[in-house]
Amino acid sequence: MKTALVTGGSGGIGSAVCRTLSENGYLVYINYNSSEKKALALADTINGIAVKFDVSDRESVNNAIKSTGHIDLLVNNSGISEINTFDSVNPDTADRILNINLRGTLNCSRAVLPDMIHNKSGVIINIASMWGECGASCEVDYSASKAGVIGFTKALAKEVAPSGIRVNCISPGFILTDMNRNFSDEDLRMIKEDIPLGIFGTPENIADSVMFLASDKASFITGQILGVNGGMVI
Ligand code: NAP
Repeated sequence: MKTALVTGGSGGIGSAVCRTLSENGYLVYINYNSSEKKALALADTINGIAVKFDVSDRESVNNAIKSTGHIDLLVNNSGISEINTFDSVNPDTADRILNINLRGTLNCSRAVLPDMIHNKSGVIINIASMWGECGASCEVDYSASKAGVIGFTKALAKEVAPSGIRVNCISPGFILTDMNRNFSDEDLRMIKEDIPLGIFGTPENIADSVMFLASDKASFITGQILGVNGGMVI
């Protein structure tokens, strides 16, 4: 049985990814940091095991991945955001955004790669954001972190392709999850008007894209950024 590790598996997108992977035959390690109840409840309903670690803490990441053993698929999905003008964001918060969104992605990838390289197979899928492609006002640190994830995806894909490992990125548009819980109804109406397809994305839209990129149907695809955004960024 193939094994997958999904960081932020306790969240909106992450839990949908875990469910879809389990439905498609994976044993899923569901990473969480603070949402223990959600992770344990999910583990009860799928073929999954909850694993607590903070992706920004390299030692915890390494210890956790030693305990899971071989990982066939890593989905770097953990992320946080903060909506504020660049000069108003608390510097500690800005550091946390980079440390979780970008360094967390690097930490987890670095931890699973030796085994993948040894086995000459493996798939890494990074969850970036359309704001990493085009930049968002009032989400500057977040946009920078996600642009970093996109650059990381392209560079690592080139480096590890000769070892039979594929590295791709999904760049979601506006997906209805807790991350967007602070938007008012009026904000949501205006955001929807900017989405050419006129609908918000669902966590399942992202999960289906993860499943495709993880599968052999994507065996000739690496280093790519798949926009799943209803046409908002083209
Ligand atoms: P969410 O529901 O808020 O989930 C965020 C997840 O990140 C949670 O599972 C959380 O785990 C985890 N996390 C936060 N800090 C962590 C840490 N230090 N270590 C490990 N895990 C940590 O948000 P979401 O919408 O599903 O977002 C998932 C990913 O999609 C993020 O990378 C986000 O940037 C990206 N994205 C989302 C949207 C959108 O519109 N929703 C758009 C573009 C990109 P705990 O709760 O257990 O701490």
